[in-house]
Amino acid sequence: MLQATPLDTDAQQSTRINLLDFDETGLATVFEGLGERAFRATQVLKWIHQQQVTDFDAMTNLSKVLRARLAESAEVPLPEVLLEKVSSDGTRKWVLSVDARNRIETVFIPEPGRGTLCVSSQVGCALDCQFCSTAKQGFSRNLSTAEIISQLWLVNQRLGALEAAGANPGRVTNVVFMGMGEPMLNYDAVLAASNIMLNDNAYGLSRRRVTVSTAGVVPKIDRLASESGVALAISLHATTDSLRDTIVPINRKYPLAELLAACDRFLEQRPKGDQITYEYVMLDGINDSRDDAGRLVGLLDPHKSKINLIPFNPFPQAEYTRSKPEAIATFQSRLQAAGFVTTVRKTRGDDIDAACGQLVGQVAARGRKGRLTADARTDQTADSGPVGA
Ligand code: SAH
Repeated sequence: MLQATPLDTDAQQSTRINLLDFDETGLATVFEGLGERAFRATQVLKWIHQQQVTDFDAMTNLSKVLRARLAESAEVPLPEVLLEKVSSDGTRKWVLSVDARNRIETVFIPEPGRGTLCVSSQVGCALDCQFCSTAKQGFSRNLSTAEIISQLWLVNQRLGALEAAGANPGRVTNVVFMGMGEPMLNYDAVLAASNIMLNDNAYGLSRRRVTVSTAGVVPKIDRLASESGVALAISLHATTDSLRDTIVPINRKYPLAELLAACDRFLEQRPKGDQITYEYVMLDGINDSRDDAGRLVGLLDPHKSKINLIPFNPFPQAEYTRSKPEAIATFQSRLQAAGFVTTVRKTRGDDIDAACGQLVGQVAARGRKGRLTADARTDQTADSGPVGA
């Protein structure tokens, strides 16, 4: 397997063009800037994302001259993999170093017939949802397109290596932007990365298999509707503005009525039959009553919505507890009785802190909670050790 160069640290910023930062259109512009024809961009895209080749010398359908020029002026740097942990249920979590001070996490969840990669879009998160441990870390910075797509690149490579060694780890068939961060607050990088995921010259995932999840950044929902074909998930979690203002504070800026109107506009731009997934974390005594279920039924349209109930995943300092299993089952059957496809998300990977809302990485926070919170847990818990060791 060809070796990739580790990502430069803050101290030694590279002046080379990072080819992972571009979707096909962007790469075409880069190649035109180098005085090359645009189809070279397609060839390079295929080498990098389909063949996993990052060494220009091995890109044999490019002229020797172009290969030499790329070696001089461009690069394909990948984040360093610090740690890989494997859950007893097969879920895998990788801790990646994106610069000298920041780490992110990416999680692969194998299921029969499919494998979902949960990617991070930011280091930390600025939204402060009360039940999410990423929020407690504060916000450091947006990830670049390269750092987002690298997660898929690295995981594909790793799963391929495991398979070649005789294991059966599964393959990435779906990607969800449900790792660390709010993807809609890093819109441009997320859009370019998802373009690469959907592109047949790169990963070729079908548009229903790439899902952007948002706590409700309304103007970006409108942009995504017209600029991309990806699926949308909304982190709803509450049925009244007063509760949602508290647990998902971005609701104060974009209240429920505005959010749901944006969801309707989104579906108007999609083929008939497309649906939006509404995520609803189940918090004991907070949002799991009969009245909550009734209001949820009133807010959504069963033809346009799927509901995914997420049993709350605890973390140190959490102020909430998970709804009782009977409460979740009752809530689910009320929604189903009203005609909603309603699933309860299986808790996966919680023994390695890889479940929803448990991702923390390491955030050199510059935001409101400006503190550097090295995550001791990632280094202390039992794991499979540094990758390759
Ligand atoms: N910021 C985006 C992406 C995060 S996705 C968004 O809000 O949609 C992660 C999903 O897990 C979101 O639905 C989030 O609300 C949910 N989540 C966060 N913390 C959780 C926790 N402790 N237990 C269960 N789900 C949680």
